[in-house]
Amino acid sequence: MNTYPLLVSEDLVFRSKATTLQSSVSVMVSSLGGLDKLTEDNVTQAMTVAEDTGLSRILVTDAAGRILYDTRETDSAVGQYSFYTEIVQALLGNDTFTCSYENSAFRSRAASPVLYQNRIIGAVYTYERDTEQAELLESFQNNIMRLSLIIAAAVVAFSALMSHGLTRKISALLEAIRQVREGAYSHRAEVPGHDEIARIGEEFNSLTDRLQKTEESRRRFVSDASHELKTPLAAIRLLTDSILQTDNIDPATTREFVQDIGSEAERLSRITEDLLRLTRLDSDVLEPATIVDVLPVMQQVLRMMELIAEERDISITYEATEDCRVLSTKDEIHQIIYNLVDNAVKYSGSGGRVEVQLIRDDGKVILSVQDNGVGIPEEDIPRIFERFYRVDKARSRAAGGTGLGLSIVSDTIKKRGGSISAANRPGGGATFTVQWPECTEGGETV
Ligand code: ADP
Repeated sequence: MNTYPLLVSEDLVFRSKATTLQSSVSVMVSSLGGLDKLTEDNVTQAMTVAEDTGLSRILVTDAAGRILYDTRETDSAVGQYSFYTEIVQALLGNDTFTCSYENSAFRSRAASPVLYQNRIIGAVYTYERDTEQAELLESFQNNIMRLSLIIAAAVVAFSALMSHGLTRKISALLEAIRQVREGAYSHRAEVPGHDEIARIGEEFNSLTDRLQKTEESRRRFVSDASHELKTPLAAIRLLTDSILQTDNIDPATTREFVQDIGSEAERLSRITEDLLRLTRLDSDVLEPATIVDVLPVMQQVLRMMELIAEERDISITYEATEDCRVLSTKDEIHQIIYNLVDNAVKYSGSGGRVEVQLIRDDGKVILSVQDNGVGIPEEDIPRIFERFYRVDKARSRAAGGTGLGLSIVSDTIKKRGGSISAANRPGGGATFTVQWPECTEGGETV
């Protein structure tokens, strides 16, 4: 930026010098044009016209290079031979021009031959030293330099400001990443602005949000699971201590205690089975899905459940459409229906009624399980699918529940693209509704 305009203006000055100097030389050459021979006298006479050209020096030589006329007053070279390159070239018949810029001045030289009847009879040489234009150019150069320095300073200041802002944001982000890496999941990156870095900050924060939620639910799950496992273990411990520490314990009581120990152990194995099932669901490793006809599986579950229901004087009825096919596994469908009907029986009082319905509607297979039992308090409905969530802990435990049944059901259904919802019936009792996408593809049905 600095040198280009200077080079261009230097070049412009060179060109203008070439035209003015060459035209002055040709004026002089034409004023000598009528002479057949150049002598000191006739040249001095003819050159009076050229006196006012403002040039620094004018030389006229004869064909041999001897100087006949010199405008330089002190140290005049008249009578001497000149060997300036320009004069030598002019005497060989060439017009020459040279210009240079050095020591704060433009020095231009031009020479042309003087001809008489196509014969070279001498040469005119002019020399000009121009400091005015050079001064102009120099002040131009200084101004550009000053301007460049101001621009450079402004650019440096602006860049420093920008990079300071940028590094501050990146440091805030790095600090947040470090804090979260060290386990402070509640820490959030504070990156102001609306640029890309601020957006990375927002993305990072939402990622941390998810991480925090996952971490919290993992912790809750582990603590709930340990608590659930601790209760039957404590009961077993208490029962064994009682047997061991009571002297002369009668066989009937021992038998009763051992039976209790057995049922607590059974409970432990139910909880661990459920936990394993959930862990498998979390690990995303699914058994390959097959086309399952829901009705036969449902009938099989209901046949089994009827025996338990009869004991408690609970009736189970169903109505179903045939050919309700879904993509899942037989075990999964069995588990879902079993858990829902088991809950319906568990939370209905003696003389209760459980109604199961299986239909196809608008590309969906819908299963609903209704009972006329205690129902679910409205505020608990959104939470009953959470792990270990129980409305009435004592009642659930007494009924042999682990608090994991519905979360297993809900996770299994979601993995196969379906959904589950719960609601209370107007006349009392609860309804659970499951929806799966209907499988309409051909293929082997199990
Ligand atoms: P549990 O092993 O305790 O039955 P679930 O996950 O199967 O655990 O159910 C969670 C909670 O939802 C139960 O503790 C119970 O309070 C409530 N619940 C489930 N099904 C019913 C139902 N049919 N009627 C009333 N409450 C129910």
